[in-house]
Amino acid sequence: MLIGIDLGTTNSLVACFRNGKAELIPNSLGQLLTPSVVSIDSEGRVYVGSSAKERALLHPEESASVFKRSMGTDREFSLGKHKLRAEELSSLILRSLKEDAQKYLGESVTDAIISVPAYFNDLQRKATKRAGELAGLNVVRMINEPTAAALAHGMGEEGNCTYLIFDLGGGTFDVSVLELDAPIMEVHAIAGDNFIGGEDFTDILLRLFLERTGLYKEVLDPRTMIELRKIAEHCKCTFSYSPETLMCCNVNGKLHAMNLSIEEYEKACEPLLERLRKPIERSLRDAKLRLRDIDKVVLVGGGTKSPVIRRFVERLFQRAPDQRTDPDKAIAIGAALQCGIKNREEQIREIVLTDVCPFTLGTEVIVGEGMYAVDGHYLPIIERNTVIPVSRTETVCTSHDNQSRITVKILQGESRMAQNNLLLGELSVPVPPGEQGKEKADITFTYDINSLLEVEVTVRSTGLKRKMLIRGNSCNLTEQEAEERMEALHHLKLNPGEEEPNRLLLLRGERMYEEATMEKRHKIDRAVTAFEQALNKGDRTEISRQRDLLKQTLDRIEQDPDY
Ligand code: AMP
Repeated sequence: MLIGIDLGTTNSLVACFRNGKAELIPNSLGQLLTPSVVSIDSEGRVYVGSSAKERALLHPEESASVFKRSMGTDREFSLGKHKLRAEELSSLILRSLKEDAQKYLGESVTDAIISVPAYFNDLQRKATKRAGELAGLNVVRMINEPTAAALAHGMGEEGNCTYLIFDLGGGTFDVSVLELDAPIMEVHAIAGDNFIGGEDFTDILLRLFLERTGLYKEVLDPRTMIELRKIAEHCKCTFSYSPETLMCCNVNGKLHAMNLSIEEYEKACEPLLERLRKPIERSLRDAKLRLRDIDKVVLVGGGTKSPVIRRFVERLFQRAPDQRTDPDKAIAIGAALQCGIKNREEQIREIVLTDVCPFTLGTEVIVGEGMYAVDGHYLPIIERNTVIPVSRTETVCTSHDNQSRITVKILQGESRMAQNNLLLGELSVPVPPGEQGKEKADITFTYDINSLLEVEVTVRSTGLKRKMLIRGNSCNLTEQEAEERMEALHHLKLNPGEEEPNRLLLLRGERMYEEATMEKRHKIDRAVTAFEQALNKGDRTEISRQRDLLKQTLDRIEQDPDY
């Protein structure tokens, strides 16, 4: 069975194409959104999703979130004694989603289509693919998130329409300009910023709170910081229905509070809004369109639920954004539709989707001759926003006498100077020594539909070929290291799905006990203990009764300060 996965910075979703339509799959708690959070306890038990998010409040040192931003890097996250890279943490999320899907569908799931931010670079894409493999999934395709959202949005539409997809997730921002001329959907341009997202808008609130209350981030412990972030996130979301927010937090026994109006918040967000404007302008420039040529602006990603973002979009485009699709679910639905297209399901097999590569790819060359030669220049081979799949060749020659090798640097980026672009890899071929410029090599870059790059260098005189599929950063590990890590990862066991609701409730109880004092603590303690005893006895009716009682107690304590 093939599933579609939206592997988000903050939340992830899984879906499939069944009975002629896309279907979202609930997790073991019956929810469609699984928080992209992982936590590992001292016994090596892995928590994923809501229970991990709850556990992170009590055990931040054993938990990790927002790791999508570190995909394709060497950064390691410490979860207690375990050290995991972003792709390994992502693989645990994927493993959990895969298990949810298997349980829901009642069949084994082997293949997946995973969505990635359109502006993800080659290393980040390869890390995503590896995360899938580590989760035991064959990643048959990666689809750009805004393209998936456009697919979900454009499904069933008729006629011709030019869209701009504005996708602000938790940690990334993507813009895509597309044209739908049913059944053909053509992406014209992609732009984005991998380092701006909804989380940065939470940071603004957090910063204002610290400034106004005189608290210093440096002296606050990690638990308080996580608690503050959670409150800031909640307050940020209250702007969706209220023009004012009250942010309160108890720090070291003292209550700190800040009252903030949406106008003040919006003002503080201006530098971030300015950053959002740049990719929009660039995507329009690349697509050779003006703001007024866009027929519909579609909002995708949790970040676009903010009225500050909606107002920004409205001001910029002089029109209200299209609200038809749920910004949280559009990408997963699009990924599921892509599963249908891939399987050539009757209902959607006519749809033709063309995508483009987000970045320019090229190599380093010397320009000029003799004393005027300057090295370190960038030679673009595939220009950004070229329709994929694509294959392009450029020829280079030896730059000095008796050169014995030609070394090709594989670069990604837009800068004129090679060193400012991202080095993806290097390929070296031997050439017969001779006069400068005599030996020539053809460099062929091939970019497939998943935006994965393959490079081939051919020496013209000898016919010698070298090929390289850029594997991403995990190849910094030796093969043995990679295997050892894989082995260690397989030993980590996910918390069984059927235990998830109970575990989540117990974790919530534990956390609220720590936050509460006196009488409230007694109430929580009594309810948690009774529930634990029922679980130990294994009597289903009693478990269900005590679970309801504990839930009621916790809800009341949270909602009613006088309880
Ligand atoms: P995603 O990765 O698409 O799930 O987006 C998650 C981001 O959306 C997080 O930064 C959330 O704080 C943000 N978000 C969700 N709901 C709202 C809301 N009502 N107002 C502002 N931001 C929101």
